[in-house]
Amino acid sequence: MTAQLIDGNALARRTRDEVAGQVRTLLARGTIPGLAVLLVGDDPASQVYVRHKVADCESVGMRSMLARLPATLGEAELLARIRALNDDSTVHGILVQLPLPRHLDAQRVIETIDPAKDVDGFHVANAGALMVGRAGFRPCTPWGCMRMLEAIGCDPRGKHAVVVGRSNIVGKPMAMLLLQAHATVTVCHSATPDLGAFTRQADIVVAAVGRRGLIAADMVKPGAVVIDVGMNRDDAGKLCGDVDFAGVREALGPDGWITPVPGGVGPMTRAMLLVNTVQAAQAAAAVA
Ligand code: NDP
Repeated sequence: MTAQLIDGNALARRTRDEVAGQVRTLLARGTIPGLAVLLVGDDPASQVYVRHKVADCESVGMRSMLARLPATLGEAELLARIRALNDDSTVHGILVQLPLPRHLDAQRVIETIDPAKDVDGFHVANAGALMVGRAGFRPCTPWGCMRMLEAIGCDPRGKHAVVVGRSNIVGKPMAMLLLQAHATVTVCHSATPDLGAFTRQADIVVAAVGRRGLIAADMVKPGAVVIDVGMNRDDAGKLCGDVDFAGVREALGPDGWITPVPGGVGPMTRAMLLVNTVQAAQAAAAVA
């Protein structure tokens, strides 16, 4: 018997349904939740992501405003657009699609967003809030992973969680969220010798690297939960994660859990953007 699947599509559907209900309540009170998306340049992957985000907003009754901006856009102009959106009371969430063209300083751009509208949760104020355990927007991918653990009844308290990857948008916030949920957390990265020695001890493994086949069958213990954040292409061009899915699923056995790629973390990341945006609109409506 192999590990059970964590169905990201089904959970994302349920999450979207909940958000749609919250949107209806806001609409009844005269607030239309609005997400502004800024896309600079014509990176093909970014275009797809942005299209999905706009469609997701529509599917739950939110308003989305997409600005497609030329790759040559100057930083001052981009910052001015963000400031205008900060001042626009019909906009509750602002998202700048990353990566940005090289001449733009991504950190400066993100930090120009009003933290109350930073629905990606990347602003240093929201990162700091997470660090000290205060309310704030949590980055969508790790926040979605926490929802997945909750959905399968996996309480991190007292468990050993191993996070592979330490980026500001996935690995680090993932580790903080697990720590807040009372897991004992180990963070591994490119300078970690013998990765398997760590992952084999883990009750929860979160792989967020971007290297296919990184987590092999002999690197997990039976009964563990494996969450695969990675997005890679196999030799046939098919989407795959960081985990050797078939081998690891077998090794985990019937008490284990694993996310598929596609159909795991990706859909939940998208759903959590809607959760954050509706929360931003609820907060704005409460103070209006
Ligand atoms: P980054 O490239 O920013 O970070 C990758 C991390 O992996 C780094 O911390 C790096 O370590 C670490 N790493 C690299 N090689 C190894 C190794 N051999 N062993 C252990 N750790 C290693 O990527 P992101 O965090 O932005 O994204 C990670 C993956 O998740 C990517 O595939 C990305 O496409 C995917 N992703 C998927 C999302 C989804 O919705 N499904 C959303 C966001 C990302 P070091 O810091 O030392 O360099």
